This record gives sequence, structure tokens and C-alpha cells, in this order.
Amino acid sequence: MTVRTRFAPSPTGYLHIGGARTALFAWAYARHHGGQFILRIEDTDIERSTPQAVQAILDGMRWLGLTPDEGPFFQTQRMMRYKEVIQQMLAAGTAYHCYMSKEELDALRAEQEARKEKPRYDGRWRPEPGKTLPTPPSGVQPVVRFRNPTDGVVAWDDLVKGHIEFSNAELDDFIIARADGTPTYNFCVVVDDWDMRISHVIRGDDHVNNTPRQINLLKALGAPLPRYGHLSMILGPDGTKLSKRHGAVSVMQYDEDGYLPEAVLNYLARLGWSHGDDEIFSMEQFIQWFDLDHITSSAAQFNTEKLNWLNAHYIKHCDDERLGEEIRRRLVREGVVDTAFPEPAAIAALYKDRVQNLNELADAAHPFYVAPHPSEELRTQHLTDGALAALRDLRCRLASAEFVPEAVAKALKETLAATGLKMPQVAIPLRVVLLGQTQSPSIDRVLAVMGREEVLKRLDAVLG
Ligand code: GLU
Repeated sequence: MTVRTRFAPSPTGYLHIGGARTALFAWAYARHHGGQFILRIEDTDIERSTPQAVQAILDGMRWLGLTPDEGPFFQTQRMMRYKEVIQQMLAAGTAYHCYMSKEELDALRAEQEARKEKPRYDGRWRPEPGKTLPTPPSGVQPVVRFRNPTDGVVAWDDLVKGHIEFSNAELDDFIIARADGTPTYNFCVVVDDWDMRISHVIRGDDHVNNTPRQINLLKALGAPLPRYGHLSMILGPDGTKLSKRHGAVSVMQYDEDGYLPEAVLNYLARLGWSHGDDEIFSMEQFIQWFDLDHITSSAAQFNTEKLNWLNAHYIKHCDDERLGEEIRRRLVREGVVDTAFPEPAAIAALYKDRVQNLNELADAAHPFYVAPHPSEELRTQHLTDGALAALRDLRCRLASAEFVPEAVAKALKETLAATGLKMPQVAIPLRVVLLGQTQSPSIDRVLAVMGREEVLKRLDAVLG
């Protein structure tokens, strides 16, 4: 059997972190088995679906590198197919027209609630052998209901949660097409999973209650049943369901916030799945290891510190050129126009083992392009007469030094010897002048990256 999985988001908002984890697991499962991963946009809820949300989902998937083998398919483009299947079901007697009005439904619900019963459709338009159906009222467009089995159970061995069963008596004859002819959610999912030959439905456990209905529909259609695996939800750090309150939940917000996609992927992979104690692994490794046996059936808890730790790790091991691009992208967004020199990649090399995210990296790079205005406090504290005299001495030496770390370090040592000062007494004022702060990676490397012209210009601005 070819493994075919799908990710089927409804475009009613951004791609959130829970959805991304579902997509990752479905993608990895298909990859692990050499199968196919399909992207399907469930946009039949016209009121709530937006083109922006579709775009946000596609952007998020692309950013994470979760490339589908097929799709994106859009349910709104498959309406003819849904209508065709509805007609087939009506003809086969597995679905029927129901003419109950809203008033009648409300009255039925009120009666059931008064009797403390669960509100459910009472089957009054359901055809039965020997039963006489009411006469269809004129001018009323009927809905189409599925003729759900009335007895027995519907059961499946969930790949994550184990055996699950529902009694058919609990499921009523749900609507598969509204009065205006539009198909409903559970129906479209079923036709799509069938047509797209999905072998494994991996999705959030908020869908567990839909599964028995979908299985019954598939059976009525004579369609093969996929296997189902329902992933537990993700909790916020405070133990409640992960939501906007917990900060960034949109995948693209993680890009904004300076996370590398591989850090987010690695983090998501460990949200509810494990391979021994392994915490840091590549996607190739993950695909090789991934199976549904090691998914925890309890909820996974989001932990920002761990994500930050992974991000710092991936930044540290990231290629300088790529980090340079990330710096450039961010500085351009901030309005820094000329980021050609110094090379952002060279700045990345200086700072990449000191930051937790790419925004910190871009912040560190900023003063290399835009001369800082050190605060009055920093100036009085660090640019003392003694310090300025040392900087003047250093300026002369740097004017003719080659701008590589060794030569710059040599010039600095000569200044220390000439002035009798210690390294921090010169390096700190130098940092204040060049970067507007007292700390930085090794000062000779900072100077070498910044380049002679800019270093001398900034020194001259304070030395007069
Ligand atoms: N469209 C559904 C959602 O966004 C998912 C449907 C499914 O995976 O079966 O929650």
C-alpha cells in the first residue's frame, strides 16, 4: 500500500503552531514510508475563509519547507464532484431529503431538552420499509441527510489513541447538503479523502468526534477506510490550550521573531513525539526515525525556553552567508539601505554564538551600518581625557595598519605600551565610540570587520 497523507487546514486564520505540527507529522509519515503528502485547503466555509489566510498557510508551509507532493487542492473548486456524490447517495438510498423547517427543528429541540434528552434529529423524513413519509411541503428546499446506521458501533484502532468506538445510536442522520445545495464539512472531507486515496488521516484530536460520522459515510460509499491517528493538542506553558494569549502562535510570527525554520521544525518534532533522549536532529534524521508508535497520547506542553535553546543552537551552526542574508533582510526592513559593506556574513560570524535569535543578530549588526549615538552617560563614564588620548594614539597606528585582526591587535598592544593603560581601558571606550555599547566580541575582530574607513571616521568624530 502506498502511504498517502494529507494536511487539510481551513483558511480562517494564519497557520498556527498546532497546525504546523500536524502538517509536520503527516509530511514526515509520508516521507518515512516513501509515500505522498497532499495539501488540501478546506475553504468551503465562505464566510470565514479568506485569501489572506490561504496565503498565510502557503507561506508558512513554504517557510517550514513542508512541500506537498500534490496540491494545494481547494474544496471550493470541487463543488461539482460533491454534488455528484450527493446525487449518487440519494439514488442509492444512503441519503435522503429532509423538509423539516427551522421552526420544527427548534420545537423538536425544545421538547428534547425539556425531557433532558440530547438534542438530535428524530428521523421523521428518513425512509424506512413500510413507513409512509409526510408529503413534501411546496416551495421548501430540502436539506440532504445521511442515512446513518441505527444500531451497532463504529470503531477504529486509532494510531495514536488506541481503540475508539462510538455507538451508532449516538449519531444522528446529519446533514450532508444544505438547503441551498452546498455540501457540509464532514461530507467534503470524506469525498476528498476517498478521491485523494488518503491512506492515513493524521490530524488533531479535536476531530475525534467527526471520525465515526466520516467512517460511516465512507462505508456507505463503498470507499476503503483510511487509518486514523489523532494527535493530542498542544498546551501553553501555563497548561491551558495554546492560544494567542501565549504570544506567537502563528508560524510566520516565528520568522518575524527571528527563529530559523529548522529550529522550529526540530522543536515541533519533539512536541508529543520522541526518539529516546534525542533533542537535536535534522529533518533527514527525523524522517528516518518518525513513526506513530512514539507519539504520546497525552497533551504536549509548549516550552519557549527550549525553543530558544534550539534556535541558538541552529544559529550557531548556521552558514554565515545565510545568516548574513537574514541580517540584511531585517536591516532593510528597518530602513538601513546600504548593507553591502561590511559584509553581513562577516558580522554574523562575529555574533552567531552570542545570540538567541536573528533579530538579536540584526540588532548587533545595526551599528556597523549606522554610526551609534552613545548616551551622555556612556560618554562621560568612558570617554575620559586619558581614554581619548589613547584613542588618538591608536588612530595614528590604525591609519597605516592592515585591517585584519592580527595587525589591529598589534596596533592595540602598541597603544597599551605607549599609554600604560590596560586592555579594557582602551577597548571599552573604543566600543562605546564604534558601537555605542561597552561589550562586543573581540575588539580586533570587530575593527577588522568594520573596516579602516568607517573606524577612522567614527574615531575622528569624537577626537575632533
Ligand atoms: N479542516 C480541518 C481543520 O482545519 C481539518 C480537517 C481534517 O484534517 O480532517 O481543522
